[in-house]
Amino acid sequence: MASVQLKNVVKKYPNGFVAVKDFNLEIEDKEFIIFVGPSGCGKSTTLRMVAGLEDISSGDLFIDGKRMNDVEPKDRDIAMVFQNYALYPHMTVYDNMAFGLKLRKVPKDEIDKKVHEAARILDLEHLLDRKPKALSGGQRQRVAMGRAIVRRPKVFLMDEPLSNLDAKLRAQMRVEIAKLHKSLETTIIYVTHDQTEAMTLGTRIVVLKDGYIQQVDTPENLYDTPCNKFVAGFIGSPQMNMIDAECTEEGGAVKLSFAGNTITLNEKKAAALKDKGYIGKTVTLGIRPEDLHDEEDYLSQHGQSVISAEIRVYEMLGAETLLYFDIGDASWTARVNPKTKARTGDTVRFALDENKIHIFDKETEQTIT
Ligand code: ATP
Repeated sequence: MASVQLKNVVKKYPNGFVAVKDFNLEIEDKEFIIFVGPSGCGKSTTLRMVAGLEDISSGDLFIDGKRMNDVEPKDRDIAMVFQNYALYPHMTVYDNMAFGLKLRKVPKDEIDKKVHEAARILDLEHLLDRKPKALSGGQRQRVAMGRAIVRRPKVFLMDEPLSNLDAKLRAQMRVEIAKLHKSLETTIIYVTHDQTEAMTLGTRIVVLKDGYIQQVDTPENLYDTPCNKFVAGFIGSPQMNMIDAECTEEGGAVKLSFAGNTITLNEKKAAALKDKGYIGKTVTLGIRPEDLHDEEDYLSQHGQSVISAEIRVYEMLGAETLLYFDIGDASWTARVNPKTKARTGDTVRFALDENKIHIFDKETEQTIT
């Protein structure tokens, strides 16, 4: 069992800067929780408070129901993996992994068993006699993981553990970490600003901005039903397309007009805008690149939600094609089938999937529907 609970946690640094504001989160046993958000949003500060490397200014931290605020880091039964690995250069891989156990005076044969078991899980058995400088970046990262897992802690904390690796290794290590989570059956809290890592690894993701939690949800829910414009724009690549639009009602139908285009909303979205008093107001419309369609069949069936634009850039990526164009002042992207006939310079019609339109309040930036 290893649940982690943060209750009204605040971090105020000695210079007066408040990096984490009223943070409330309950992490269940065996969850893989990801903290994401732009640089400076408070991800590492929060993780370091869980680790005990930073004091908690106010609020409470519980691990398995026990208040941990004043418990020494070494007594919290957690292990932390950092982005710079922090391996001892003069020690072999074996000694690096055994070091923490030796300090804890664990019997030698038990250390040997644990190191070999971790080395087997991480495919490091053939490297145990090497020194860190004779390892690749990915291997060093695995040793850093190994050093954490030999201790079998209740909770793993990982702070951007893959950020020093190149894209290919990062993708490989992502798979390794997912496997590790399965085989170790422990709780992991993982900090990243890479939303691919967040989306692929997390059982739940915590999106942070300016020290505040924006949304806590599964990757699917964050993607499909972001709670505000920030989350909608942060999760997903290429980013969700957005533009301000005028909301009007004509003969019972609710329409959005923007940059020379007018689309009619489906009944559900129309009712939401009407009920909440948005007729006659400016709202922000959002649509993901894959929810724009340029196929003739689709266009003819979705005539109420068609826009047109001149393609600025055509990018064939193999399995998909990205089309870049401007809608008013906004830069938009469509992710379409590579069989598309659209090319740079063409004026192309796209239909928006009416069920996938997101509408945000222009002032508060909260999701309306
Ligand atoms: P990154 O992705 O860049 O690592 P982060 O989300 O992990 O960012 P934190 O390292 O938690 O951000 O920092 C949050 C905020 O607190 C930042 O604005 C940072 O400048 C500030 N901060 C961090 N450490 C201190 C400190 N010791 N004193 C004052 N402010 C600090």
